[in-house]
Amino acid sequence: MSTEFDIAIIGGGNAGLTLAAQLAAQDNPPSAVVIEPQTVQQRDCSWALWALDQQAEQLTHSIKGRWRRWQLVDETSRVVHSSNQFSYLSLSSADYLLDCAAQLREPVSLIEDSVKALHPQQHETIIETEQGRYSAKTVYDSRPPKIAYCDLRQHFLGWQVTTKEPIKDPDIATLMDFRVDQSRGLHFIYALPFSDHHLLIESTLISGRIETQDWYRDAIKGWLRDNHIEIDEFICEEMGVIPMDTLRTKADPAASPTSLEPKPLIATIGAASGAIRRSSGYAFQHIQQQISQLAAGIAQGHMLVPTPISSRLTAMDSIFNGVLQSRPDLAVSLYMDMANGLNGDQFARFMLGQATASDWLRVIAAMPKAPFLKETLKQGVKKSVKRISKQLLRQQKNA
Ligand SMILES: Cc1cc2nc3c(=O)[nH]c(=O)nc-3n(C[C@H](O)[C@H](O)[C@H](O)COP(=O)(O)OP(=O)(O)OC[C@H]3O[C@@H](n4cnc5c(N)ncnc54)[C@H](O)[C@@H]3O)c2cc1C
Repeated sequence: MSTEFDIAIIGGGNAGLTLAAQLAAQDNPPSAVVIEPQTVQQRDCSWALWALDQQAEQLTHSIKGRWRRWQLVDETSRVVHSSNQFSYLSLSSADYLLDCAAQLREPVSLIEDSVKALHPQQHETIIETEQGRYSAKTVYDSRPPKIAYCDLRQHFLGWQVTTKEPIKDPDIATLMDFRVDQSRGLHFIYALPFSDHHLLIESTLISGRIETQDWYRDAIKGWLRDNHIEIDEFICEEMGVIPMDTLRTKADPAASPTSLEPKPLIATIGAASGAIRRSSGYAFQHIQQQISQLAAGIAQGHMLVPTPISSRLTAMDSIFNGVLQSRPDLAVSLYMDMANGLNGDQFARFMLGQATASDWLRVIAAMPKAPFLKETLKQGVKKSVKRISKQLLRQQKNA
């Protein structure tokens, strides 16, 4: 097998394998390799997203559950949305990735190996792995971003179970049920009925600190008890941490545009490039969009990676997270009020980052004005201070 490629893709997750499958489908594919250390089964988890019918049809092989209705619940109210346009889907990541891998064909391949280091040369990058060395003119790196200790994170532990009695309303996905302990951060139960006897229940916390596993388990047990649901069979447990703050891997110096030497491109894709929505942790659709644009660009000889989420949306999400952190007492009502202010289609568009101007107006109208104004000013001042410090540093360097 050749060790020289036009493109090396580091990581065969959502971004890496989607890109490889799309390159393989092109008329004149570039030579490309995906380097991934783990099997898809080792990484299997649930990916949820809102999708229009056409996309849902394309994902049929990977769909574990599909709902036209979803709800948010707190101590005093319940908001139930329904949509004819959008479904809320839960995918098996393993099935999705196997489907992508099955579409690979020469000259695009997947190898099981782990990248240790990248060594940029003048025209290509040497990729040092556990088992050898490869070279590529362009490297797309999807290794997950590092999460700093104190950053805001969404962390969860979930159980899949079968239940003794039929589940009430199995056609409704519970996105957030806030009727749980709120003392450690914004806490909610996420519950997806895959059938009338098969349930996924996750205890999810948005905070800077991860709790012991038993803390999440106790929350799940308490919620099951409160909802009179008895477990028949325990299927599996899954857990995860999604960063909601420091989302971008630092650009590699080799890709720095300030360098005078010609350098090969090393760019991040997927979550590593900032594709995780800061206010919700959803990333799937942003990655799909980014990768489709990138693959179309590569076919035209344009190798640069499109930004997955607009800077305006990222700024709005940062303000939302800022209010969550500075006013934890408002956290539950922020989500409930937002859900209340939108119908199912508007809510799905908002979560997908595709809100129209009138959707935005509805969200803004539903939010408390003073804390958002304060946070907007705070972040505006922070940005200005950062910009001025950078300018001063640059001036000092040039002096
Ligand atoms: C537990 C969890 C649940 C999530 N649920 C959702 C959800 O429901 N909906 C949603 O929209 N988003 C969800 N997300 C966000 C999620 O990050 C994305 O949906 C998606 O998985 C990110 O794709 P990616 O390709 O950028 O990264 P990944 O899918 O994480 O792929 C990165 C790959 O890099 C590989 N890798 C790591 N080190 C090396 C190395 N040294 N050499 C080579 N390869 C390496 C990893 O094995 C991995 O396969 C979830 C995230 C997590 C962590």
